[in-house]
Amino acid sequence: MTTEQTGKVLVIDDNAVIKRLATMLLAKKGHSVETASSGLEGIECAKSFKPHVILLDVMMPEIDGYEVCRCLKAEAATKDIPIIMVTSRAEIVDKVKGLELGAADYIQKPYDHEELQARVATQIKMKTLWDELQEKNKLLEELVKKDGLTNLYNHRYFHDRIVEEFSRSKRYGLALSCVLMDIDFFKKINDSYGHQAGDEILKKLAEIILASIRDVDIAARYGGEEFALILPHTTIENAATFSERLRRSVDETDFQFEGIRIRVTVSLGVASLPENRPQSHTDIIRFADEALYSAKNAGRNRVELYRM
Ligand SMILES: [Mg+2]
Repeated sequence: MTTEQTGKVLVIDDNAVIKRLATMLLAKKGHSVETASSGLEGIECAKSFKPHVILLDVMMPEIDGYEVCRCLKAEAATKDIPIIMVTSRAEIVDKVKGLELGAADYIQKPYDHEELQARVATQIKMKTLWDELQEKNKLLEELVKKDGLTNLYNHRYFHDRIVEEFSRSKRYGLALSCVLMDIDFFKKINDSYGHQAGDEILKKLAEIILASIRDVDIAARYGGEEFALILPHTTIENAATFSERLRRSVDETDFQFEGIRIRVTVSLGVASLPENRPQSHTDIIRFADEALYSAKNAGRNRVELYRM
């Protein structure tokens, strides 16, 4: 019994006999095979079929295998698909050319049947491992940006994004708002109901925030009980309306922990470009923080705008 991995193979060859032979040999190993008779057809098929490996004939009329290889390697959708160049004995001097263009391997015609099957199997294995690695990297990249408890973005990601958004907004003369939000008397909640209750409240608040923002907005857990939001293309009036709505929905939410109702309110500070004339991302954060401080001083459970 073989435990070899099966995959999807695309055979691009202008010779019907060779195409049939390759299909037969690969199908025998359990691979699912599609074929194309020309370079153009092959490129189209690579995009839709998304094979694990491509068996590519070098000598074809119109567009030859080298050109097809170049096109496939130039496109994001197909650049990671390994290509095995198929050359005839006469073309052997050109084998380096294929490798230079990004081909993974080559095989000579007429090929030994087992060699073809083995080379294809190797590339399928490599491609599968590569795909798994890409998947894991993507997951890791997401994890690195996120706060573990709330699944909102973390402080570092917030910082990277506000630097980016600030300079972009400034350059193009666009509005930008920054909102800092803090849970009122959070220490008291933790002291009275325990840290687990505190964590539940943080999670619930994150849900409320995520439900109120647009796709373009960035919501982050800024510190222990502090949240930070970046609202691109948003004037101070609109940011104030948004913040007031958020404050109200928190105020109206029934927070419960182990059957006990806990009253939770938040204070918010808003600062904006261009209204507050911040000169840097540091300014807009500091202004929002000062506004938040005013909201706390003015009695909490309220929104304050930065007044310059
Ligand atoms: Mg040919």
